[in-house]
Amino acid sequence: MEFNDLGAQYRRLQPGIDAAIAAVLAHGRFIHGPEVGRLEAALAGRCGAAHCVAVSSGTDALQIILMGLGIGAGAAVFVPTFTFTATAEAIVNAGASPVFCDVGEGSFDLDPDDLERRIAATARAGALVPRAVLAVDLYGMPADYARLARVADRWGCVVIADAAQSFGAIQGSSAVGTLAAATATSFFPTKPLGCYGDGGAIFTADEELAAAARSIRVHGAGGGKYDIARIGLNARLDTIQAAILLEKLKSFDDEHGRRERLAALYAERVGDVVVHPRTPPGSRSAWAQYTIMSPRRDAIRAALAAAGIPSMIYYPRPMHLQPAYAAFAGGRPDHPNATRCCAEVLSLPLHADLADDDVSRIAGVVRAAA
Ligand SMILES: *Cc1c(COP(=O)(O)O)cnc(C)c1O
Repeated sequence: MEFNDLGAQYRRLQPGIDAAIAAVLAHGRFIHGPEVGRLEAALAGRCGAAHCVAVSSGTDALQIILMGLGIGAGAAVFVPTFTFTATAEAIVNAGASPVFCDVGEGSFDLDPDDLERRIAATARAGALVPRAVLAVDLYGMPADYARLARVADRWGCVVIADAAQSFGAIQGSSAVGTLAAATATSFFPTKPLGCYGDGGAIFTADEELAAAARSIRVHGAGGGKYDIARIGLNARLDTIQAAILLEKLKSFDDEHGRRERLAALYAERVGDVVVHPRTPPGSRSAWAQYTIMSPRRDAIRAALAAAGIPSMIYYPRPMHLQPAYAAFAGGRPDHPNATRCCAEVLSLPLHADLADDDVSRIAGVVRAAA
């Protein structure tokens, strides 16, 4: 059994993907070929965003948003400490300072109350100007954007979404891509919508930010290629990756529905013995991961391994305890909910090519060990 079975997915989609790649090889426009614009239109249309800018990765999407908004030296960006390193890394690479916040109790997302306390403390200290809240839709479930926006608005901060794991998710009547002022997603192969290399995209309703992002991804180009308006990056999405993504979009809804059904099956089988992910009414997770929590996490993981079942710990250590972020770990060092998450989370196999029987077997091992 594989944790992510990209091989099975490829075998299922092979004719379409092979043809899409062959078409790019035939036309030869490998950089910003026509598939890139078609993908941007398709993605924006899917989620109802005014603008989509395809870029080279989710990490670059985050950095480009910050650069495009002019959030750099002297700016504080508030971010959950329980996340993948790329969220915090993009802030530092943009020249700004991450301020690590806790996640909510019983949630994996930025806690609006802790956010408010840390913005207030940062404003009081005076060394940094609070500029942005960078929320993370961990495991595929959108953060509580309505509450986060109320806090951010009080302090004049913009809300940015790290939706690397949540493309396709819904909150209320709005899709990921429209829940924050700017959204970054990732097409890393194992994300809900993955390509065969690195890729990412930015969604926004802000026309000025979209234009800045289009410039930054090609070295800060202005009106013409050699008219340089700003310092940029080389951060384009390859045409071949865009062609693969256009093809994978065709089966995206079916795969999403399949993961949703398997998640419901897991909940039915293990929901009474471990903490399991809950979906607020009216929301749809993208189900990037199915992540449980248990004080017996390590025993469950060992039992799964003994049964030949892979599992993953996303993530074992919070950012404020990583050596690379020691300079940003100040303030209240305690992040009790994040600390507990790191000790207790376990992600179980979840992908569209997993059988119901596989989930039943995995759940049986989890139950016995929990
Ligand atoms: C995957 C991921 C990223 C980075 O995306 P890349 O495309 O790999 O650069 C950022 N944040 C989170 C939460 C992620 O899971």
